[in-house]
Amino acid sequence: MMKAMKILVLNAGSSSLKFKLYEAGGLAALAWGMVEQIGEEEARSHITVSGGREDVLRSRVGGHEEALEVVFGLMRRHGALDDVRELAGIGHRVVHGGERFQAPVLVTSDVMAAIEELFSLSPLHNPANLSGIRVALAKAAGVPQVAVFDTAYHQSIPPHAYRYALPHDLYERHMVRRYGFHGTSHHFVARQAARFLGLAADEIKAVSLHLGNGASATAIDRGRSVDTSMGLTPLEGLVMGTRSGDLDPAVIFYLARQTGMGLDEIDRLLNRRSGLKGLCDHNDMREIINLAAKGDGRASLALEIFCYRLKKYIGAYLAVLNGAHCLIFTGGIGENAAEVRHKACSGLDALGVVLDAAANRKKFSGAADISAPASRVRILVVPTDEELEIARHTARVISDAVT
Ligand code: ADP
Repeated sequence: MMKAMKILVLNAGSSSLKFKLYEAGGLAALAWGMVEQIGEEEARSHITVSGGREDVLRSRVGGHEEALEVVFGLMRRHGALDDVRELAGIGHRVVHGGERFQAPVLVTSDVMAAIEELFSLSPLHNPANLSGIRVALAKAAGVPQVAVFDTAYHQSIPPHAYRYALPHDLYERHMVRRYGFHGTSHHFVARQAARFLGLAADEIKAVSLHLGNGASATAIDRGRSVDTSMGLTPLEGLVMGTRSGDLDPAVIFYLARQTGMGLDEIDRLLNRRSGLKGLCDHNDMREIINLAAKGDGRASLALEIFCYRLKKYIGAYLAVLNGAHCLIFTGGIGENAAEVRHKACSGLDALGVVLDAAANRKKFSGAADISAPASRVRILVVPTDEELEIARHTARVISDAVT
């Protein structure tokens, strides 16, 4: 019998399928890539094999099933995976786990039904995630599948932080509460930060700032999430690439009455046409920083608004935690945009946060401390790796299921 020695991580989006293949023992990455523009005229499929070899394929890909065939085909062609029986397990990113999932689980028909029940809370993500699970079950029958939820890490948040001040029965009957997302990333960087600071994972107090296209802040008390900025959906909280973040809910009624916009239109407006994009027509932070440096007024203001909102959340979560060992910057912006870190940390010395401007401008290859010696709160840059974290969870759930 073939020895199952690899773990595949899949992240199925509405028009994309990302994958990363690991060797199961030490979790070394073997190959990774994605299929994009699924359902369009021509999809782009890309693979990088450890060692640097790359390949791009352009073809029509109708749905997730064909996309997964393309992924298996590319991995076979490049010697990364010859047969699905080499897989010890497949780990899937699932965005919404509601209140049911507090940890990753082995996929069963019951788990799949529960993911489907959450479609109303996550209409963009959960259907795609479940479709990824279905096609993987079909194409790799017999390989254990594990679901890893973005919301699970935040299930430790207490009711006074996760409840909205709305009538009680809306929570009981319609599950209206804050769930939080990016949990896999916040959990991963919190553990990395603890290790970096020489603390136990269940000791660290941190404010974690995941700043990518989506962005969220999390207050972490002794390794557990106790509050987070995203809410019922990923729309709440920080300013993001195309999402508004926090807003007076009355803006929605006002817009509907003034402009005649329908609910779906306002939903799209707040999720896809707002945030940095709405403020200055760009959602790529690199571009915004470049434009701001050239004196572009709208880009400068967008950058200010982004950093100011971030600073407010840092202050709020330092209050929630009554001080912290560290701030953690992660995600594409958090790891790379020195300017954002500088602005978000400026004027926080009264709260014990003091950046070292020179250290902040260095290029990093791993975790780094960018705080001044006088800073009571360490300021860390920690690269996130959600796929690796999903691979780890997958390996653990499978081994727990066997023993
Ligand atoms: P996603 O949430 O899609 O995974 P990422 O974590 O890759 O996104 O973050 C994407 C964001 O990171 C973009 O706004 C991009 O401009 C920003 N970014 C990446 N590299 C840099 C850089 N060197 N300087 C500033 N911003 C950067």
